[in-house]
Amino acid sequence: MGFSTTAIHAGQEPDPTTGAVTVPIYQTSTYAQEGLGRHKGYEYARTQNPTRAACEQNIAALEGARFGFAFASGMAAIDATLRLVKAGDHVIVSDNTYGGTYRLFTRILANYGIEFTFVDTTDLSNVEAALKDNTRMIYVETPTNPVMMLTDLQAVADLAHARGARVVCDNTFLSPYLQRPLEFGVDIVLHSTTKYLNGHSDGVGGVVVLNDEQDAEWLGFVQNSVGAILSPFDSWLVLRGTKTLALRMEQHDRSGRAVAAFLEEHPKVQKLYYPGSLSHRQHELAERQQRGFGGMVAFDVGSLDNARAVLEGVKICTLAESLGAVESLISHPATMTHAAVLPETRQRLGITDGLVRLSVGLEDTDDIIADLDQALGKIK
Ligand SMILES: *Cc1c(COP(=O)(O)O)cnc(C)c1O
Repeated sequence: MGFSTTAIHAGQEPDPTTGAVTVPIYQTSTYAQEGLGRHKGYEYARTQNPTRAACEQNIAALEGARFGFAFASGMAAIDATLRLVKAGDHVIVSDNTYGGTYRLFTRILANYGIEFTFVDTTDLSNVEAALKDNTRMIYVETPTNPVMMLTDLQAVADLAHARGARVVCDNTFLSPYLQRPLEFGVDIVLHSTTKYLNGHSDGVGGVVVLNDEQDAEWLGFVQNSVGAILSPFDSWLVLRGTKTLALRMEQHDRSGRAVAAFLEEHPKVQKLYYPGSLSHRQHELAERQQRGFGGMVAFDVGSLDNARAVLEGVKICTLAESLGAVESLISHPATMTHAAVLPETRQRLGITDGLVRLSVGLEDTDDIIADLDQALGKIK
């Protein structure tokens, strides 16, 4: 079955009670039981909810996975995934991962005896050099936020599996329409559904999908035990979002290419970070493991003053954190999403004061480009 057919139907049989074609929002905390130990498979809504189950099955199907678990946020999904490792275990992580992931790993989970090594996973020899006897997980984000560096998923999976470690991929930036990490041997895929999967800037959520039965059993146990579940309404919003995921991603990708081409030629843009560009040093890998390049583009205008001129000069793009929405969202990583990263580290990663990140939305492409053009024109 094709992607959109799956997106519209997987997990979404007409409601057995009424025939409603849209999965109802089961806004209930508990379920009447017919007798002692006799119920319809639903006991309590932290444990089971039909709207959440539909959402979980739907995203699992889109990633080609057997099991899915939805959480209250992307961070809750990441936290639950890390419950697959224990005190004494070692985890290797992409070094320019999402800021919240870095914070969770270094400021919270490290206190519980989990050891983290951050390396540049664009070069597999760094991953190989960081492997230890107790390495149980390799955690990657590709492309990374905000400088759009890639990790070769097949190569990292081969390396991890030879050493008995799992590979986790945060696929938030591309969505399963543009990249399906399980096909390259990745074990666990997770998303902040807040971004492209929901896609409309109106819900916060996260999801984890995987094929391994034992790991899935443990994740389900964690989901129920810790309780950071996705609400019925937010599950319903994600289901509404995924129905148009293919159409939206096609347009994000098309506009992303046009915007990147415009920026690359613009005299005020000193450097472009976009895997779709022939000048990107991993362009060939992007073509190989992605179906497109998506809507994320970053560019350097040389200084904080220049960045401010653009960020405060835009009229259609909205100055805001987050990404993957119908609206074009523009941000300043150095002072917004990556403010918590040490200045030296920011410099090394290319997150300079002049770096601007753009999530190309679904407004008309010409309007987005004209808006950027007039904002770039405000640079002195
Ligand atoms: C936003 C984001 C997260 C965190 O998700 P929340 O829904 O905000 O908790 C994790 N990874 C990436 C790549 C993100 O963009």
